[in-house]
Amino acid sequence: MKIRVAHGSDLLVKSPNGSTICRSVGFLVNDELMVDAGTLASGLTLEEQKRVKHILLSHLHLDHIKGIPPLIDNLSGLVDHQVVVASLSSVIDGLHKHIFNDMVFPNFFQQQGPRHSILRAQSLEPQKEVCISRGISVIPVSVNHTVETVGYVIRDDSAAWIYSGDTHLTEEIWQVAARTPNLKGVFIEVSFPNAMLDIAIQSKHLTPQLLAQEYRKIGKPDLPLFIYHMKPTMREAIIQEIAELDIETVTILEEGQEIEL
Ligand SMILES: [Zn+2]
Ligand SMILES: [Zn+2]
Repeated sequence: MKIRVAHGSDLLVKSPNGSTICRSVGFLVNDELMVDAGTLASGLTLEEQKRVKHILLSHLHLDHIKGIPPLIDNLSGLVDHQVVVASLSSVIDGLHKHIFNDMVFPNFFQQQGPRHSILRAQSLEPQKEVCISRGISVIPVSVNHTVETVGYVIRDDSAAWIYSGDTHLTEEIWQVAARTPNLKGVFIEVSFPNAMLDIAIQSKHLTPQLLAQEYRKIGKPDLPLFIYHMKPTMREAIIQEIAELDIETVTILEEGQEIEL
């Protein structure tokens, strides 16, 4: 599986090559499946957007869904396929109620004019595996965040990886990780530095210290660990603290990076 990274929150940050944009959350898998949709329109070229057939959402927070309305604007009249938006029914309901409600944005889950509706909803249930895209199946697993949220086991014939979603201390997804065959990596959010533990607890996210605690629950010390969702203004402090954890298999994900699992 090929995974392209876009994570963090929208801000220009300094990098060795000058300024780079740090975008909200989204991972493009095999060119056609978007795992969370924060970057869907801002992070992909039009040709890349035209190939997206499936969107898998972890939860309803804006940084994970905000690419969907501009994607529709961009694709309007250019593609014949529907884009399937898959998530828990509470997330699908939330999209209908709060975004595609004909007030904030037209309801593109319903037919617009002579054409078919561009979006199609697919409700998922925790722990039920479904085939979602060519050769790729997913298992939603509930995690502990301020709103109903799932992480995912995402797998094809040769590899599986885990996407944590936004989460605080949680159990089930690490138990699933421990027994998932062919697990090639785990993508875990870290949002705040250790000094902001109180905010991490309040907003149900992770700090580097909490990350180490969660990672140990999997019981696979050699499992590659990929970090995303760092608040861009605190990125350097978080990276420093993660380096001090002494986890050898850790990778801090960079914007645009491609991972082959
Ligand atoms: Zn969230
Ligand atoms: Zn988030």
